[in-house]
Order: sequence, then C-alpha cells, then structure tokens
Amino acid sequence: MSLHAGRMQRGPLTLDCDTVIVGSGAGGAPVAATLAESGERVVILEEGPHVSGEQHGQMRPSQSVRHVWRDGALTLAVGLGDSPSVNVTAARMVGGSSAVTGGVCFRAPEAVLSQWAKDLRIDDLQPNAMARWFDQVAKDIHIEEVPANMRSKSTQLFIEGGAREGISFEPMSRNTHQCNGCGRCNFGCPHNAKLSVDRTYLPRAIAAGAELLSDCMVDRIVTDRGRAIGVSGVALNGPYGQRGDAVHVRAKRVVVAAGAMYTPMLLQRSGIGRGSRALGRNLTVHPSFRVMARFDQPVRGWEGALQSAYSKHYEPDGMVLNSVFVPSGVLAATMPGFAQAHAKFRNQIDHLAMFGGMLHDDGGGRVHRLPFSREPAMTYRMSPRDRARIPVLLDRMAKIFFAAGAREVFLPVFGLDPVDADALGRIDWSRIHGRQFECSSQHPLGTCHMGSSPDHSVIDPTGSVWDVPNVFVADGSILPTSLGVNPQWTIMAMALRVAHRLVRA
Ligand SMILES: Cc1cc2nc3c(=O)[nH]c(=O)nc-3n(C[C@H](O)[C@H](O)[C@H](O)COP(=O)(O)OP(=O)(O)OC[C@H]3O[C@@H](n4cnc5c(N)ncnc54)[C@H](O)[C@@H]3O)c2cc1C
Ligand code: SF4
Repeated sequence: MSLHAGRMQRGPLTLDCDTVIVGSGAGGAPVAATLAESGERVVILEEGPHVSGEQHGQMRPSQSVRHVWRDGALTLAVGLGDSPSVNVTAARMVGGSSAVTGGVCFRAPEAVLSQWAKDLRIDDLQPNAMARWFDQVAKDIHIEEVPANMRSKSTQLFIEGGAREGISFEPMSRNTHQCNGCGRCNFGCPHNAKLSVDRTYLPRAIAAGAELLSDCMVDRIVTDRGRAIGVSGVALNGPYGQRGDAVHVRAKRVVVAAGAMYTPMLLQRSGIGRGSRALGRNLTVHPSFRVMARFDQPVRGWEGALQSAYSKHYEPDGMVLNSVFVPSGVLAATMPGFAQAHAKFRNQIDHLAMFGGMLHDDGGGRVHRLPFSREPAMTYRMSPRDRARIPVLLDRMAKIFFAAGAREVFLPVFGLDPVDADALGRIDWSRIHGRQFECSSQHPLGTCHMGSSPDHSVIDPTGSVWDVPNVFVADGSILPTSLGVNPQWTIMAMALRVAHRLVRA
C-alpha cells in the first residue's frame, strides 16, 4: 500500500510503524518525507480525501468549497467585545491547506525569529540558524518570483495608485513551476503547477515507503504509562463519507500535524498537554480585509495570478498589503443588495479591482473544546492596538484605489454603501462596531506553541509535548507568535527542524 483511500476500506484496519503522523498538510508532509527517507516506517493519516489536479479542474469553486474546504468555508472565530468575528478558512484534504494556497511564500521576518530566540531562549531559532531549513524548503517546493507579466490588471491598478502615494510594491514569490496564471489556486491547481505538499513532500514520502491513508479521522492518541503507543480513529467509509470502520495504528512515536484548530483538540481529547495553560490559547489569525474598487474601464481582475505583488510600506505599523482576487462567480455572490440592487452591482464585476490588507496581530484568540463535539469553538478578542489599526488600514487602501482613478470603493464594513473619495473622508469610524468589519483569516497559528517552560508553552524546543515525550507537534500551531507574512514557508521550515532532530535522536 502507498496511497490508500479510507473511504474504500472494507473492515477494521490495524497498522504498525515507527512514526504515525496525523495530518498531511504543510507541517505533516515535510516530517513524513524526512522520516521515510531516513528509513523509518511511516504512516500518515489524513481526514480529507485525495484530489488529483484533474479532479480539481472538474469542480466549480462552489463544489471545491464543499468538497475540500473545511466546513464549506464557514468556520468562525467569534469576536469578543469590540472585535470582528473572523471567518477562518482551512482545507481538509491530502496536502491540507497547502493545496488551496495562493502559493505565496515569505520567509519569516528576521525580527520575528530573533524575538522568538530571545524571548524563548531557543538559540537555533535565530535567523542564521533557521536559514538552512528555509533554504531547504525553497528547493523542495520550488519557490520562484511571479513575473510582472502575470499580474492581473486589478493588481496593476493598485500598484499604480500606490506609486502616486509614494508606496512601492515588490513581486511575490510562489511555489510554482510552469504556472499559466489561470487564477484558480484557492480551489486546487488543475494544472499541477502549484507545488503544494501533495505534489512534493508526500510523493517523496510515499516513494520512500510511507503509507498514506486518506479519509481517516484520528480520534485519540493512545497512551500507556505516560508514553504514546499509537492512535485510534475511523475510516470515513460509512454512508455519505461518515464515520465507519475502526483504524488503529501502533507506533513508537506520534507526530500531530492537524493544524492550529484541530491539534489542540486532539491533544485535549487524549488527555495530553492539559497541564499547560497555553493549550488552545494564543491563537493568532493575521486578520485580513479585502477592499474592492470600481473603475470606468474593464478590469477583469480574475485574469492573471491571484497573488503577485505585495508592499511592506506599512510594516512598521503592523500592516502588509497583498494582492488577491477571487473567481468571478464568487465575487458576484459577495456583492451587496438584493434583486435589482444586487443586479446593478453584479453587472459591474468586470470593472472591479481588489486588494488585501493583513494585520500582524498580537493574538487574543482561543480554541475551545466543546463537550460531546469533535469540532472546536473559536473566539477572538483583538488587542486594542490591532483594533485601532483596522480603520487606518482600510482608509489607506481606499486612498490608494482613488489615487489609481477608482470611481467608488467597497469597504469591508457590513451596512456601508460604496463610497466615493469625498464620502470616504466623512466616515465616522468611531461609530463602526468591530462586529461590522468583514474579516477573514487563512492563517490560524499558535495554539500549541513552542517554548522553554511547560508553564507557558505546550511543546518543548524539540517539538515534543512536555508531558508525553514521544508525542511531537509539527504544524502551524507551534509558532510562538504571528509572523506578519503568509506562513506556509515558515511552517514547513519549522517542521523540517523538528523532523531532522527526530532523525538524529
Ligand atoms: C484559502 C487559503 C489560502 C492560503 N494561502 C496561503 C498562501 O498563499 N501562502 C501561505 O503561506 N499560506 C497560505 N495559507 C495558509 C497555509 O495554507 C497554512 O498556514 C498551512 O497549510 C497550515 O499548515 P498546517 O500543517 O498547520 O495545517 P494544514 O495544512 O491545514 O494541514 C492539517 C491537516 O490535518 C488534517 N486533520 C485535522 N484533524 C485531523 C484528524 N483528527 N485526523 C486526521 N487528519 C486531520 C486536516 O484535514 C488537514 O489536511 C492559505 C490557507 C488557506 C485556507
Ligand atoms: S494560477 Fe498557476 S498555480 Fe494557480 S491554479 Fe492556475 S496554474 Fe495553478
């Protein structure tokens, strides 16, 4: 067996291995490849299905959202106090969220790594020590610059507006090879041009002998006298993909890489890490906002790479500007109004440009375990500093669009009509409650973060959970703070760091 679909499994299954890995995304896959290539017997269990490039191409975005995005993209971190509620998205498939990224790759900023090394007293998190892992990932997933000719007109207009405001932009880098700019990245690449972990690390792991079981949900890490002896779960081979036959994997070591929403849930359900007050806390999300603008000329912003340029001009204020776009059908569904009013806006979508703004947040989120439910409940209390940044960010983005010649701007504020340049200046931001902001996140991080003391962290500097030494965590949950940039490269680099220590152990 190499890649086996759990939904085709008939009857209970028991496997033996050296290391079982829960989750096949940006964190789990590099660990799987490293350990399998070192000669270990590796089993990877993934809750979601395996989807080929061809199958991605056959699905409409609305079908992809239901088939491979978790909860049909409706997961919410409920805003507390004056905080926005945050729509947190993730994928549920072989390759995890890595398969639905825009492909954007940023190294962790040096200042962030230096801060981690200093605050946590973990020397090899210093930028010069981490460089080898970042360099290795860059080779493994082929990170390359997006050529300027692949920029959409939407991005080009925002860059022109930025230039008039004295703001410069740089080309993004992405993990692609022979990308044709079709703009479908967030629904899985139909051309196998995005080198997500299902195209890179997982095939390597399988070639080296690892077994990957998709459609298999892990319920528990099984322990005996303070050590893990494997995991138990179910194949999703019941009617309509529901829970079916039992799956048991006996292993010498467990690596949890179920992502920042599900890793703390699995540890809690298994009675692991509960001594740490940090378990499930410290959730950071990089709150993100999309601003749209209507131009006189056609824009057709969905033509070209979804993400191709960014600006760090406002980085000192904790803000990054990233190009984004969404397919035209999805865009139409987000336009305001009903019936005639909606039709008016919908008919203008080929004249719309869009850009994204992201906050380098202080955190304040939490993943809660509910009784009798496998699903997490999430809350998010934004820091006063981040909350104050939202109107500043939106105002700056709107001004860039007006400098580019936009007629009106659609701000992500529920109940606010599109504004022209004069109306922008009249907005009384103090009267807008946090819940009115339309905020999303693709980057939940930090809920099992690494540290040098069990009082303040869930895992130690090697990646091992403090109270069960042969359980390791290697995914976005281990990042001690948010990054201020898209995280997949950092998650993979941190996962390689954990994996290579395991090989040496
Ligand atoms: C739409 C979207 C666009 C993004 N774009 C970018 C981008 O351009 N650049 C960037 O850097 N980042 C991007 N990200 C973020 C990036 O994809 C994630 O930060 C990264 O993939 C997280 O890695 P992870 O290993 O923590 O979790 P994931 O990659 O999400 O992997 C976790 C896996 O574990 C599985 N799992 C969970 N629970 C269980 C269980 N109990 N049993 C078995 N399996 C389980 C899940 O199904 C999932 O496949 C994007 C994310 C999304 C959703
Ligand atoms: S834009 Fe490139 S990477 Fe994205 S889906 Fe199209 S071919 Fe794939």
